[in-house]
Amino acid sequence: MAQGDSAVRDVIVVGGGFAGLSAAIYLGRAKRDALLIDSGHSMATWEPDVQNYLGFPEGISGDDLLARGRLQVAHYGAEILQDEVLAVSPHAAGFLVTTSQASHLARRLLLATGITHVPPDIPEVKPCLGTSMFFCKDCDAFRVQGKRIAIFGHNDEAVEYALGMLYYSSTVMLVTNGHPPMWSDTHGGWLTEYEIPLCAGRISEVDHVDGQLRALTFEGGRRIATDVLFAVQGELYHNRLARMLGAEADAEGQVRVDMNAETSVKGLYAAGCLTPANCQMIVAAGQGAIAAQAINRDLFEEELRLGKLRRMRDVQITQHDTLPELLD
Ligand SMILES: Cc1cc2nc3c(=O)[nH]c(=O)nc-3n(C[C@H](O)[C@H](O)[C@H](O)COP(=O)(O)OP(=O)(O)OC[C@H]3O[C@@H](n4cnc5c(N)ncnc54)[C@H](O)[C@@H]3O)c2cc1C
Repeated sequence: MAQGDSAVRDVIVVGGGFAGLSAAIYLGRAKRDALLIDSGHSMATWEPDVQNYLGFPEGISGDDLLARGRLQVAHYGAEILQDEVLAVSPHAAGFLVTTSQASHLARRLLLATGITHVPPDIPEVKPCLGTSMFFCKDCDAFRVQGKRIAIFGHNDEAVEYALGMLYYSSTVMLVTNGHPPMWSDTHGGWLTEYEIPLCAGRISEVDHVDGQLRALTFEGGRRIATDVLFAVQGELYHNRLARMLGAEADAEGQVRVDMNAETSVKGLYAAGCLTPANCQMIVAAGQGAIAAQAINRDLFEEELRLGKLRRMRDVQITQHDTLPELLD
């Protein structure tokens, strides 16, 4: 394996979605030698019309936001590499990061590898992704007000999703696609109390035009007019690298972090949807910023302690004018 970099980077950021890009902007502006490695599969690319990101009242596509973010990263000097990180391990210098092309060393490591929403096990539903099939109420419920909404799921969360959706539409049903209900008696009671129709059969067909849902057909032939489907189950946390380093994760697979976005492993940080933070673009960007600021502070304290800042200052003193200019 080729050594990508003989130098030890200050920071390597893995993942170039909202958390990673935001962190790289902060690290570049903090004059850190930062390398961002991204395999290019941000979930944001699934969203053609982001309506809840601050500063874009007319909406903006996820692709556009990412492209702007990459430009901003480049503007402030952090390097972006399109590659996939295959392995990470502890190293005397900090961390060894191995990609499909090379290996790199860094003093600190930030994982911003996100999650993937797994589409439900419904035949032919994929073309509807992002157009009429969604995963996130906060992202997409506002845009489907008044539509005929189906919630896909069979647990407490699905019931609560259906109840929460009543603020947006009076036509809300729950579909389990044949999965046995796992919700509590209380949640089952709410379904009855709020008169939310339950379709427990398997879905045999999705009727859509260019991804715009029109109806769901159930085994046995029953066909129900449906404009929108929300899936509340099926998240895959990209925590493999965190696990390689022994970072703690919760039962769902979310990597645990403290208030500075540091994991249970010293020097290893995590941000964005990989963590228990609410999986929203603006939250991921904010958490990336928190992680970058904490890393920068950590490196600063280390450099003070080890005399590195002092040596840098010596160079300034010997090679530059360092005294303020007296004008009068
Ligand atoms: C259909 C859909 C619609 C959405 N709409 C909205 C919306 O309107 N508003 C909103 O706020 N949020 C929305 N979201 C959620 C939003 O996409 C996420 O909150 C956001 O992308 C999270 O940012 P992140 O940086 O944590 O992860 P991501 O943006 O997913 O980025 C993770 C990055 O890490 C990279 N990566 C992973 N593993 C590796 C590896 N081993 N090596 C290198 N790179 C790696 C991936 O390729 C990816 O680029 C939507 C999500 C979906 C699925």
